[in-house]
Amino acid sequence: MQSIVLKNCRAVVPEGILENASIVIEDGLIGEIGGRAPAGAEIIDLEDRLLLPGFIDIHNHGAVGIDVNGVERADELFEIGRFLAGRGVTTWLPTLVPDSDETYRRVIAAVGEAVRAQDNMPVARIAGVHYEGVFANTQMCGALRPEFFRTFTGGEVNELPTLADGVHLTTLAPEIAGGIELVGELRRQNWIPSIGHTRADAETLERAFAAGARHVTHLFNAMTGAHHRELGVAGWALTKDEISCEIIADGIHVHPQMLLLALHAKPADRLLLVSDSVAPTGLGDGEYELWGERITVTGGRTQNERGSIAGSVITMLDAVKTYLRLGVTPACVSRMASNNPARLIGLDRTHGTIETAKRADLVALDERGNPVLTMVGGRVV
Ligand SMILES: [Zn+2]
Repeated sequence: MQSIVLKNCRAVVPEGILENASIVIEDGLIGEIGGRAPAGAEIIDLEDRLLLPGFIDIHNHGAVGIDVNGVERADELFEIGRFLAGRGVTTWLPTLVPDSDETYRRVIAAVGEAVRAQDNMPVARIAGVHYEGVFANTQMCGALRPEFFRTFTGGEVNELPTLADGVHLTTLAPEIAGGIELVGELRRQNWIPSIGHTRADAETLERAFAAGARHVTHLFNAMTGAHHRELGVAGWALTKDEISCEIIADGIHVHPQMLLLALHAKPADRLLLVSDSVAPTGLGDGEYELWGERITVTGGRTQNERGSIAGSVITMLDAVKTYLRLGVTPACVSRMASNNPARLIGLDRTHGTIETAKRADLVALDERGNPVLTMVGGRVV
């Protein structure tokens, strides 16, 4: 593969911003930072733009009219992946909502096919899957369909189809029957348990923590809040330093000031951005069919027939822009969009920061925060 040099950029590195940087890209990896261009390298002048590690979205139900639960072929996932790459996302976890066994089998087969074929595609890479809410609390279903919820008696994790290669993450409510044992079983099978769609009390949350739960799905949404006399799931998650939280920064799911509250409360490496995007993302306002219901999208807000918010229509890029608009530094936002999700899913040795020997998954943003270049595995896509 030809070497590339990205020159004249403001690179967001773990220590802060490196002004007037040049980054050598060789064999799909980040080579020397600030080094001399190898002979014959292609030079790309980024004209003083910000260069960040590519975004990693661990909670994404689809975009451009394609719903992950409805996917039948790898091509459809590539279509989502192409759209995401255009918005700076370089890694994602297709996220399933509760559905039938048959649907799970069909979707996981397509995801497996995409994982095997994606290396030469100009798309965001699939790193695994997220099963959202199979084991959720029926009182906290949000837009999920409770008829497909399950409890845990011992074998239910094995009923979920898995990928031969990749991360498996699942959102669960620890207070359901068998919930604590479920956390332990998921850890034994190398899954990442995530607490969400829940109204568990503090004692149950502590038991889930002791069993190995370390992450919370969309902080504040589909959980009990933080009241000054009632801790709630959000209050617990905000104050438990070892717990990482994902947050939907669309300014609709969570008030902008509450986005700052979460940032102030959590250690720097424990808050991460997700899109929670649904199929209409990228298509604009209108009426759509989603998860067996009609949903409307008005001014970027989704609503189903039950009056619930039905996911978002943002991408990670919008979440990044939201936090930048709130005055948060690019280095801090970049941690939330790339480094922290990489660490959660165990990819931080190879992904998530601009450092020598990491994968060249990068995005350059112009002064308005729009991508001018996305690179996946050293290739401009
Ligand atoms: Zn979701």
